[in-house]
Amino acid sequence: MNEKMRALTDRLELAGGLSLQEYKELIDGRDEASAEELARRAVNVRKRVYGEDIYVRGLIEISNICRNDCYYCGIRRGNAACERYRLSPDEIMECVDEGYKLGFRTFVMQGGEDAWFTDERLCRIVKGIKESHPDCAVTLSLGERSPESYRRLRDAGADRYLLRHETADSIHYGRLHPPEMSFEHRMECLRQLRGLGYQTGCGFMVGSPCQTTSCIAKDLKFIETFRPEMCGIGPFIPHKDTPFRDMPAGTLELTCFLLSVIRLIHPYVLLPATTALGTIHPEGRERGILSGANVVMPNLSPAAVRSKYELYNNKLNTGCESAQQLADLKKRMESIGYKVVSARGDAAKPTLIKEKKNGCI
Ligand code: SAM
Repeated sequence: MNEKMRALTDRLELAGGLSLQEYKELIDGRDEASAEELARRAVNVRKRVYGEDIYVRGLIEISNICRNDCYYCGIRRGNAACERYRLSPDEIMECVDEGYKLGFRTFVMQGGEDAWFTDERLCRIVKGIKESHPDCAVTLSLGERSPESYRRLRDAGADRYLLRHETADSIHYGRLHPPEMSFEHRMECLRQLRGLGYQTGCGFMVGSPCQTTSCIAKDLKFIETFRPEMCGIGPFIPHKDTPFRDMPAGTLELTCFLLSVIRLIHPYVLLPATTALGTIHPEGRERGILSGANVVMPNLSPAAVRSKYELYNNKLNTGCESAQQLADLKKRMESIGYKVVSARGDAAKPTLIKEKKNGCI
């Protein structure tokens, strides 16, 4: 690794952040040696905070009906070829019960912005899960809703909310979304979620169309200042029935590099090795963990609908993506020196880590 890259890496690790220009230099100057060094440091930092534990989240894709028309997304409103489905509250509860038996203690309800899921219906589902499984965390990933809706869901017991910001560059945002969608509103939603006390997750796609190094530098700066409890990044993968069908996919290499950078910016963040990473490479998720990630999100949705939640082509929906193969996932993680644990897996707090280091907990 050359002197400049070493100096940037040292500064990133010590200060937990860089200037926009430095982030750009770090990304543009990366090579195999600097990626390896960053991953080594990211893994050390992650081990200090979370040990060898890997948290699993049971992902339930509750609906692929969406009012939005994001240019990159396979379940966009304008995709007439998408076969739509919606899980009933009973079906969702069955997925949760099944997942609980397998050891899952966090359930993520994700879906398109489907108006059928009113606040009343969602609150009933969230309360139902919390009543039958009080030791579990409920994460929602249901897009942009009103402040009142976020408040009601929080009051009903939802613990976490994932809302990728998609890009921290407003012009780039406009290239990924139709004019009726607003960058300011997306960011405002994230601030509202944080204000309501949710453990809040942001994130972006790596290699999305029109993304420049300067866009990624802004994403990293946003993560550095917003300090989300969770951050989901994965490669963009084209879907054949979207306007971005012919665009190239993001790479495993850059995604892993950025996972390491994010871990060094924010040691306590819950960082998933995403399904998209597992889709572009057979060992994508292991590579993500070895770059600093500490979460995996196997799919608990009923097998019959799994292939219909197709955000991008060839989305991984068998093998380790099915909870029934949890044992297999555990083995894969063990083979790289990690341990899948049955725990809520909340974001660590700096005070707890100090105690843990002293062997107090
Ligand atoms: N509707 C909710 C929302 O807007 O947050 C959650 C569902 S949305 C489909 C979940 C995430 O999938 C998006 O935030 C986006 O980053 C990711 N995604 C969509 N299309 C993708 C693609 N073609 N490649 C990779 N990721 C994609």
